[in-house]
Amino acid sequence: MNTNSFALRHIGPREDDQKLMLKSLGLDSMEQLIYETVPDDIRLKKELDLDVAMSEFEYSSHINELSKLNSIYKTYIGLGYHPTILPAVIQRNILENPGWYTAYTPYQAEIAQGRLEALLNFQTMISDLTGMELANASLLDESTAAAEAMSLLFAVRDRDQKKNKVNKFFVSDAILPQTLSLLQTRSTPIGIELVIGDESTFDFSTEYFGAILQYPGKDGQITDIKSFIEKANAANIKVAVAADILSLVKLEAPGALGADVVVGTTQRFGIPMGYGGPHAAYFATKDAYKRDIPGRIIGVTKDANGNRALRMALQTREQHIKRDRATSNICTAQVLLAVMAGMYAVYHGPKGLTHIANGVHNATSTLANAITKLGLKQKNSSFFDTLQVEAHAEKVKAVAEKNKVNFFYPDANTVTISLNETTRLSDLNEIIAILAEAENKTAFTIEAIEASNSIPEALQRETEFLTLDVFNSHHSETELMRYIKKLERKDLSLNHSMISLGSCTMKLNAAAEMLPISSPNWGAIHPFVPVEQAEGYHVVLKKLEDQLTEITGFAGTSLQPNSGAQGEYAGLMVIKAYHESRGEHHRNICLIPSSAHGTNPASAVMAGMKVVVTKATEEGNIDVEDLRQKAELHKDNLSALMVTYPSTHGVYESAIKEITKIVHDNGGQVYMDGANMNAQVGLTNPGNIGADVCHLNLHKTFAIPHGGGGPGVGPICVAEQLVPFLPSNPIIKTGGDKAITAISSAPFGSALVCLISYGYIRMLGVKGIKKSTEVAILNANYIKQRLQGAFETLYSGERGRAAHEMIIDCRPFKANGIEVTDIAKRLMDYGFHSPTVSFPVAGTMMIEPTESESKQEMDRFCDAMISIKNEIDTVTKEETNNVLKNAPHTLDMVTSDEWLFPYSREKAAFPMDYVRDNKFWPTVRRVDDAYGDRNLICTCAPIEEYMDA
Ligand SMILES: *Cc1c(COP(=O)(O)O)cnc(C)c1O
Repeated sequence: MNTNSFALRHIGPREDDQKLMLKSLGLDSMEQLIYETVPDDIRLKKELDLDVAMSEFEYSSHINELSKLNSIYKTYIGLGYHPTILPAVIQRNILENPGWYTAYTPYQAEIAQGRLEALLNFQTMISDLTGMELANASLLDESTAAAEAMSLLFAVRDRDQKKNKVNKFFVSDAILPQTLSLLQTRSTPIGIELVIGDESTFDFSTEYFGAILQYPGKDGQITDIKSFIEKANAANIKVAVAADILSLVKLEAPGALGADVVVGTTQRFGIPMGYGGPHAAYFATKDAYKRDIPGRIIGVTKDANGNRALRMALQTREQHIKRDRATSNICTAQVLLAVMAGMYAVYHGPKGLTHIANGVHNATSTLANAITKLGLKQKNSSFFDTLQVEAHAEKVKAVAEKNKVNFFYPDANTVTISLNETTRLSDLNEIIAILAEAENKTAFTIEAIEASNSIPEALQRETEFLTLDVFNSHHSETELMRYIKKLERKDLSLNHSMISLGSCTMKLNAAAEMLPISSPNWGAIHPFVPVEQAEGYHVVLKKLEDQLTEITGFAGTSLQPNSGAQGEYAGLMVIKAYHESRGEHHRNICLIPSSAHGTNPASAVMAGMKVVVTKATEEGNIDVEDLRQKAELHKDNLSALMVTYPSTHGVYESAIKEITKIVHDNGGQVYMDGANMNAQVGLTNPGNIGADVCHLNLHKTFAIPHGGGGPGVGPICVAEQLVPFLPSNPIIKTGGDKAITAISSAPFGSALVCLISYGYIRMLGVKGIKKSTEVAILNANYIKQRLQGAFETLYSGERGRAAHEMIIDCRPFKANGIEVTDIAKRLMDYGFHSPTVSFPVAGTMMIEPTESESKQEMDRFCDAMISIKNEIDTVTKEETNNVLKNAPHTLDMVTSDEWLFPYSREKAAFPMDYVRDNKFWPTVRRVDDAYGDRNLICTCAPIEEYMDA
């Protein structure tokens, strides 16, 4: 046995177990299982063209060598990205801790109170700093958040201002270039007209529904947003402000000045730049818009005992319910990064943040004085951390790069310099020396950073922030370490047991894949440095693109989208650009099967398309005749079909090639939702099936950890004809030669975590990656087999097999008064996270074990499920005081002196023997969702504060 093989570590079942499992399915070989599962005519005829596997040890030295190709310069580029100091206690206890990074999105609140609390801290921090009533638990990046702000203001425009015909949105020319590009992408399809201009001469005409400002502006100048907001408010124009989070420590909160939405990034709060991401963006707004907020909001509610409990609030806003009425498609966000940024605020507290912001500001003021003393002109009359110097850009650049320093050069005669938390006196002297040399001035040395204040009187911060206990308690490392541990213990993650979420592919996130992301050689690179400085990245990103292109059977890949849903949107925008390039602007119909994931219709609407829903058959397949009819009916305007493969029902539809042909014959392009790629890699692929574009969820199939709800990477892979339209970035050249405008802030999206997928593919190699798919299918079919008799599996392939996941029907148990949620909650008592509940069919569970789960773990899970089925058989509709309805059971409950339940404490907490060995205790009883939505509380302020209000 080659114990150095990574595949051996990644794949759960041992060879002997695989044989046993095959045997239980009545099969002699894996080949036979695959034959019975994947239709012949879509099977790949040859092996993928990928490298052979590297061992973990080989990969470690390989990636380390590549990291040395990156050059780490002192970087003062700014534009929304800054060097930071990640506190070691957060790095070690969160970023590098599977207890945090392998968690799922906290849908099952009772076993997720830890990250829910961490996210509530994040929301509170954002509400405080922005001065808004509520904030969400993160968006993908600042530019996306700005686009979401624009969409929100557009969606609510006629609610209170009779502006329903008005479609102009004003964009200050001080906006970050990448944000402008994204606003361009997002405005046109939904009918918004952008007007870009100087905010000081804006006329506040009634033709505008909203405006967005940058605070401070991209060049560092602080403008008088206060009087702008006043005039806009008077003219019924809603204002969004994109604000630098650290500057808000010193600048008055936009909310206090009357802004309607405040957005930005929290990268500055200790998160490495990572060549562009991932970082958590924030979105804060007024209570009046709480039902329109994109993404997820954490709220306070109570549990079955009336105790305080946290949960994701207002779930009805999610795309799954709203579908083509949704105004946002945000699903995966940046939870892990939000947890880290929130913890940075917990660690530093208000005093620490003030110290940091003052430090940055004082250094900037000191540098400004020195620049003037050098005899150069510094153009910003007021600033927080960024200076604008009149200088010969080319000459300065040459000297700066010789000294391994990056500034930003907006034009030939301007140099902008953005300082940060890491800037020291020696850095200021280095900057002075560079400017002196380039401009032929006499250099001098400054001896100290002087305290001074260059913020206009009217904009100085008066509003208090972070006054709550949590931000003023954990300031020693011991205290913070224990606080982080306390939260971690409340959460069930992959380091406790399997999380068999259908559609979400919670596989191993190997330590060897994760290690490199901690290295500053990967972390400390700004996304807008000259590309030569990021050579290591470019080797990895190019290779990853090529591998994904090969795996999907396409011609090109863009890594820019930061989530699956952003990939969907990007793919549809690319399709739209393709049709338009052929003069077919009118093609706007998007066919979407009724079983599709909710992000599909939401993305289509954002891309300006009209959704036509096609039917499913009894067997859960696409109704080909219905699809044909609708494609033909709309053939003049057909833009695309969005299809998930294998289907969301867990079936490889054998009609797929016919389906893609129908769409092509009627002038449309085929978009494949690649969330189920784990069932395809190495066996078949979208190109082979006849699709034109697909997104991949690198945070599902390609081993990026789920992080409790992000980060994600949702690259799109496209066929030849679509390559020219792949998305661009306004600063770093990327994408095709007829590229659409930006989809994300950064040119390569969340480049840092792309290392994880790169490592995954390199270490599994061509054989291991195919083997993984096969074992994923084997594991699913093994579970299907084991649950037979207890649970009926809905939908199977033609030869009776499941794909990599399956749906089990829980509706029959309604006869006993048991809902699918009761099973989900009871599983917690057995130490398991529930599979996906009620998607794509209400009242069912979708189970996807992935290849990483061992036979032993799956047996425990199946034993638990069968035991629960036996419990169901003993309860009745009439008597609801039962072990399922009361689940989950907390430690508090079972050790209480009072026990009012008609079953034993032992049965409640230790329903099977294996539980005794490794008990996981849910920390709250079942949460009350309705109560939380009625009484929305989204900060960590003590409940009494709201009662007083
Ligand atoms: C996960 C998923 C998506 C959305 O991906 P995000 O990264 O959460 O935006 C889309 N479609 C399907 C079928 C999925 O499972």
